[in-house]
Order: sequence, then C-alpha cells, then structure tokens
Amino acid sequence: MKTEYDVIVVGAGPVGSTAARYAAQHGARVLMIEDHASIGSPVGCTGLLSKRALEECGVRPAENFVLNKVRGALVHSMDGACLPIDGKETKAYVVSRKIFDRTLASMALEAGADISMNTQAVGLENKGDSQLLSVIRNGVNLQLETKVVIGADGVRSGIARMAGLGQVRKILPGIQIEATYRSADPDFVELFVGSQAPGFFGWVVPVNEEIARIGLAIDCENSECALDYLERLLKNNTHVASRYGGGKLDFVIGGIPIGPLSKTYAKGVLIAGDAAGQIKPTSGGGIYTGAVCAKIAGEVAAAAALENDTSADRLAEYDRRWRTKLGRELAIGMKIHEFLGGLEDKEMNDLLASMNKPSMLETITAYGDMDHPSILIKKMLNPANSRHLLGVFRAFAKAVL
Ligand SMILES: Cc1cc2nc3c(=O)[nH]c(=O)nc-3n(C[C@H](O)[C@H](O)[C@H](O)COP(=O)(O)OP(=O)(O)OC[C@H]3O[C@@H](n4cnc5c(N)ncnc54)[C@H](O)[C@@H]3O)c2cc1C
Repeated sequence: MKTEYDVIVVGAGPVGSTAARYAAQHGARVLMIEDHASIGSPVGCTGLLSKRALEECGVRPAENFVLNKVRGALVHSMDGACLPIDGKETKAYVVSRKIFDRTLASMALEAGADISMNTQAVGLENKGDSQLLSVIRNGVNLQLETKVVIGADGVRSGIARMAGLGQVRKILPGIQIEATYRSADPDFVELFVGSQAPGFFGWVVPVNEEIARIGLAIDCENSECALDYLERLLKNNTHVASRYGGGKLDFVIGGIPIGPLSKTYAKGVLIAGDAAGQIKPTSGGGIYTGAVCAKIAGEVAAAAALENDTSADRLAEYDRRWRTKLGRELAIGMKIHEFLGGLEDKEMNDLLASMNKPSMLETITAYGDMDHPSILIKKMLNPANSRHLLGVFRAFAKAVL
C-alpha cells in the first residue's frame, strides 16, 4: 500500500517520539508505529534522568512526571565503605517513564506526526527508491511504502537486523523492583559495586522517603542470573536488608545494549537509540544519548526524503554527526566499563578508598557529570590529586584515556 508518509518511525519510545518530532518539524510527513496498545508501558527503566537528558528531550521537569530530585550518590563497596558524592544541587530527576514517554509522544503528534498503535513491524524490503515495511496492525497484515524508515525499536531491534546492520553484541541483563524502602536520604541514589553485581552495579533509586526502585545489571548472559543477584542484594546486604520493607510493587526486566553498532544507516534506513546501542556503558542510561541521536536522525531522514535522495551515502550524514557528538564518550565509557568489570573486590575497594579524600571529593563535585564521565577522569589526573592516587587508579586512567 502506497502511503503518504515520507518517514516511518518504528517504536514510540523516547527515541522514536523524538525522531518523529524532529522529522515532522523538518517538513516530512511522518508516521510512528508502536506494537503495544499503550505508550510507555510496560516500563523497562529506572527513570533516572539527568537535567541534560530532559533538556535534550526538550521537556521541562514538570510535576506530572517528576517524582523525586536527586543531587548525588552514595557508592557502597564490598568492604562496607561508602563513598559519598554530593553534587550540592539537583543533578537528576526520578521520573514516571509512562508519563514521560507519553509527553514525548504528544509532542511528536503536536509537531504533525501521526501514530498507529497495535502495529508491529515484521518485515522490511528495499524497493528502488522506497522501503516496503510489512506490519501487522490489529491482527491484519499490511504493507506500507515510505522513503525512510527509522528503526527506534529498542534493544532487540528487528529493523537493524532486517536492514543487514546486525545487532548490538553486548546486552547486559537488568532487573529491578519497586518496593518499600526507608532511604537514608532520598536526595541520594545508592550504588552497590563489586561482586554483589559483577561487571556492572546495583542501585537503589528513591522515588520518595518510603519507596525506591531497587535493581541491578550484571555482565552475564542470562537474566535468571541477575534475579539471583538481586535476591541476594535484598537479603544479604545488611544496609539494603535493613531498609527494604519486603515484597514488590512493580517488577522490571530488560536488557542494556552497550557498544554501538558499527554502522547505523543503510539505503532508506536509520537506526537510533537502544536499537543502535547508543547507551552509556558506564551507567546504562540511554535517554540522553538516544535523544541526541534521535534529533539528528529525524532531521537527516526528513531532509533526505524531501530531496528524494535516500541513498546510503546521503543517510551516512546521520552516522557521522552522532559519532562526532557522542562517539568518543561512548568509546571511553566502554573502556571504563571493561576496566571496572575486571577488578577484584579488593581492587574496587582500594579504588573507591583512593577517591574518598576531601580534595578528590571536591573534584568529583565540581566535575562529575553522569553524561560525560571522561571530563571527571581527566580532572582527577591533575597533579594536585596525584598523591592520593593508588596504583589501581593510575592503571584505570591509563586503560581508559
Ligand atoms: C533495568 C533498566 C533500567 C534503566 N534505567 C535507565 C535510567 O534510569 N535512565 C536512562 O536514561 N536509561 C535507563 N535505561 C535505558 C533506557 O530504558 C533505554 O535506553 C531507553 O528506553 C531507550 O529508548 P528507545 O526509545 O531507544 O527504546 P525503547 O524505550 O525500548 O522503545 C522502543 C519501542 O519500540 C517498540 N517496538 C519494538 N519492536 C517493535 C516493532 N517490531 N514494531 C513496532 N514497535 C516496536 C517497543 O514496544 C517500544 O515501545 C534502563 C534500562 C533498563 C533495562
């Protein structure tokens, strides 16, 4: 079926909605399709968003989706020590992803995009200057013809696979519950590193003084393994166990795709967000990076469609532009992830202890940036801090920069 759309965006998550909005704002006729019957559900996220992430998405921290504000982190190592990182001001928001996602989808619709729910993309074929997208809408098979398809279809992107761009190679299983939890201070998230969450970390993100999102991701093949670690964190970590009220109010399971695809474009196709592995390998946060890339994807897709040049060469502009903005940070993030994941508990304890000094904590407060960790690492290597640096920290810096 020939459609009137220049661009079809597959997936109405934050990245799909942002890409659709930008494509519409740049003059394209846009359709966004979503396989679920509801936007923002089921939720597969902690909903911790930096101030910059909200800015990048073009939304203000409105009361209808912001549940809490946080200004720092308490990092717990296996020896029971705690590294307090105080940003001194609001650094991030804890949001309702359901309402946040709906806000972004509404903005796409206001910009002129159309949306089709209950519509699943199941096939993609390149035909001359257009793309034939096979979908199942409300149980009915249809073929939609368009000039550019943006695959914003999340961690196990079918569009990337069908376009011959492969899949993100490393997907960390993540698991989380929302539960009653007496936070020591709801202005701070708590992080748990070392063998309690091997290869990544655990977290407690307070929604308020009595409820928190408690989860972890690990560097392991299967999510059952992650569930075992979460149960152990809840039961055996005395700090967590003494605050956790038992039971679950919500349960989230998902994958965190780290390490971007080597190519995020093909003739008539762009891939963005989790589908492209555009996620911070240090934190697993994908909204900020996804939004940066979605905006470029929307803009390039619209321009290429309106010029009637949707060749791979034309669409390569997207790949070049997002890598210029984020490529180095994601590559450094991957090295940090690999280095930290390889540390023994004793080495991780020592690393955190070496940072737990007044001058280092001041540096962290001044330069810590959850979206750009490389800025802090460079500052920490300042000679003024070097007397505190242990061998493991030097090795860390050497491996990462
Ligand atoms: C446990 C966990 C915690 C996380 N916590 C955070 C956090 O605190 N902060 C943060 O920034 N990031 C976090 N993330 C990552 C964040 O959730 C993702 O980076 C973000 O959702 C990516 O957005 P997206 O639009 O690319 O993909 P998604 O949000 O996954 O959206 C993809 C959409 O595409 C739809 N879709 C898929 N296939 C099809 C198809 N064939 N046809 C039609 N529609 C389709 C899906 O239904 C979905 O709605 C977390 C991830 C996990 C797993």
